[in-house]
Amino acid sequence: MVAVKTSSETNTLIQLSNVSKVFDNGVTALKNVHLAIKEGEFVSFVGPSGCGKSTIFKIIAGLSEPTSGTVELQAHSATEKLDQSDIGFVFQHATLLPWRSVIDNVALPLELKGIGKRERRKQAKAVLNLVGLNDYETSLPRQLSGGMQMRVSIARALIAKPKLLLMDEPFGALDEITRQTMHYELLKIWEKTNMTVLFITHNVFESVFLSTRIAVMSARPGRVTDVLDVPDYEKNDSFRSTPEFSKLVGEVSKGLQHE
Ligand code: ADP
Repeated sequence: MVAVKTSSETNTLIQLSNVSKVFDNGVTALKNVHLAIKEGEFVSFVGPSGCGKSTIFKIIAGLSEPTSGTVELQAHSATEKLDQSDIGFVFQHATLLPWRSVIDNVALPLELKGIGKRERRKQAKAVLNLVGLNDYETSLPRQLSGGMQMRVSIARALIAKPKLLLMDEPFGALDEITRQTMHYELLKIWEKTNMTVLFITHNVFESVFLSTRIAVMSARPGRVTDVLDVPDYEKNDSFRSTPEFSKLVGEVSKGLQHE
């Protein structure tokens, strides 16, 4: 069971104002996207393939410029402004280095920063503990299940202590049972780390289970057509079979069908 945080009194961390993106080939990927994301939120982006979800992530991460409009990364504390080094990424495929052990995969971002072996291993052990993989430090990726590989990928993102975690369909390749286990794991991590999480999914059930808010997007040109608040429910197995859960699933699905 995971308790859910509320974000009503926290800072705005990311402000997207009127963001549009037109690629050189003439494709309008995003049109006039407005969205404010508060510190500590868990916001899912749901929408059809090609509606610009990944493009929003790239723009937030500074990997792509909007054609018009602005993206402001704001202060995550009284003194520190969020910058690119505070942003972690997790993708659908774990993209682990097959010849490296679990601990050395997780420690890679610190190795690239020139941090010594003893310190990076210490930090890698701590994040492996957080994702429940401390018994697998010396395993190779191929010895792990898909769900475990995804945990390694999440641990590798967490080792840099991101304030903002961008997750692009991270559980899309997992079977349903593993996916549901990962939901609990992710919510526990979110709770322990105070990160803000932005999460892309095609799965309406997943978005309702995980999020504090859901941004529903339209097909091209991608717009955020609806933003639904998910009330502060306890996230346990019973939640999935409550009328409230079904109602929210219905609302998100309706938002998608309108498009
Ligand atoms: P989603 O993540 O929702 O599937 P994307 O953000 O990846 O969608 O892409 C939105 C649209 O922009 C798609 O039609 C895609 O083909 C197009 N697109 C994405 N990246 C580029 C690019 N670098 N150049 C041209 N078109 C692109």
